[in-house]
Amino acid sequence: MRYVSTRGDAPELDFAGATLAGLARDGGLYVPTEWPTLTRDDIAALAGLSYAETAVRVMLPFVGDSLSEDELRALCETAYGRFSHKGVTPLVQLDHDQWLLELFHGPTLAFKDVALQLLGLLFERFLTGTSERLTIVGATSGDTGSAAIDAVAGRENIDIFMLHPAGRVSDVQRRQMTTVLSPNVHNIAIEGDFDTAQALVKAMFNDPGFSGRFRLSAVNSINWARLMAQVVYYFYAAVRLGGPDKAIAFSVPTGNFGDVFAGYVAAQMGLPIARLIVATNVNDILHRALSTGDYSSATVTPTATPSMDIQVSSNFERLLHDLGGRDGLALGDQMRGFESSRAMRLTNAQQQGAASLFQSARVDADRMAQAMRWACDNAAQTIDPHTAIALAAALDSGIDAPMVTLATAHPAKFPDAVERAIGTRAPLPPRVGDLFEREERYVTLPATFEAVTAWIAERATPRA
Ligand SMILES: *Cc1c(COP(=O)(O)O)cnc(C)c1O
Repeated sequence: MRYVSTRGDAPELDFAGATLAGLARDGGLYVPTEWPTLTRDDIAALAGLSYAETAVRVMLPFVGDSLSEDELRALCETAYGRFSHKGVTPLVQLDHDQWLLELFHGPTLAFKDVALQLLGLLFERFLTGTSERLTIVGATSGDTGSAAIDAVAGRENIDIFMLHPAGRVSDVQRRQMTTVLSPNVHNIAIEGDFDTAQALVKAMFNDPGFSGRFRLSAVNSINWARLMAQVVYYFYAAVRLGGPDKAIAFSVPTGNFGDVFAGYVAAQMGLPIARLIVATNVNDILHRALSTGDYSSATVTPTATPSMDIQVSSNFERLLHDLGGRDGLALGDQMRGFESSRAMRLTNAQQQGAASLFQSARVDADRMAQAMRWACDNAAQTIDPHTAIALAAALDSGIDAPMVTLATAHPAKFPDAVERAIGTRAPLPPRVGDLFEREERYVTLPATFEAVTAWIAERATPRA
């Protein structure tokens, strides 16, 4: 399998190359040249398989010659062996045809672990036998940072520099990052919001001086391997609810459009999906784009769902590329226009193409809290605020199909918001240990390219 940039002007890479590169040199994102398909029989044969084996069957076509099937299986067994639930991503029934897909049984309590535990192992595997040292730079609105740090802490040949918006992640989220004291882990609190932090990371990749000096890589969902790993649980859930004979709907709490794009990929691979609901909080650029074609970014409003406090959704570019006939150069122009004016209109093809599978909803704080109470009262489930945004959208959608809401975080990650809605706090599960007793280490820096790159350059290892 070969990978090309959504902006059509970067070298084609194989799977290992795309995994290590993260962002493409032309500012685009890597996508496979075509969507591999599973037949109905292939999909039916997934029923009853373990999560790790399902992962092998779904991901093998994307991996190409970069790994043998046995190597991929060994990595999947290691990555998913670290989850605290044997089902890895178990389904919980909420109502007659409403389900939760619990994605938070990994080490850092959010769905990011599902992909990043594997990505950490892929990095290590692809660096083995080279003399290279990888410098991972990433921006996080909370959950990616801790999951990425857990996945690479102490690993050979990797340094990680993680930027988070100062004061805008929860205490649990911050401590999950800053209490990891491995020498290869570097936390930077940025005086700005998530989009600012993300823009700084993009600027580092796009600056030839900086990216030429270090072997940079990305762990944000701009990294293709992450999205690939997330495709798996759409198959895993669907075959347990009657797929491929029945089409299943999914409601996805959305920020950077990575998780829901993985659902789109599952559909392109042949999984019958009734609808994909893109659920946003009041930072609703995606809801506006999908419902009116207006993709224009406003300022970010901080909410109880920080992982969705985003006004620029990187992975939306992958969808626009696919729906726009995969014309990379045209999309490059469209995206550069957006980057300079912070606004663009979707083409008719993009808007209509999206409407055939996606619908969207904007959920405010009151409706979110109601959904948390509904889950508590009707199904004795304590859910996190992000999950509640998607559950509200699912309950309000009027879709007549088995409906799976992606439960993206453990409620203990956001205890204050949970307490405000349902009156009780969710306890931290024992696997996170004494998080609030441990020493923290991080630096706070102004949101300027100069300050951040100077700090990183002092600590990263230049290319050989
Ligand atoms: C990252 C995250 C999201 C948003 O996922 P995207 O792939 O960025 O759309 C939603 N909920 C939680 C808890 C998250 O950590």
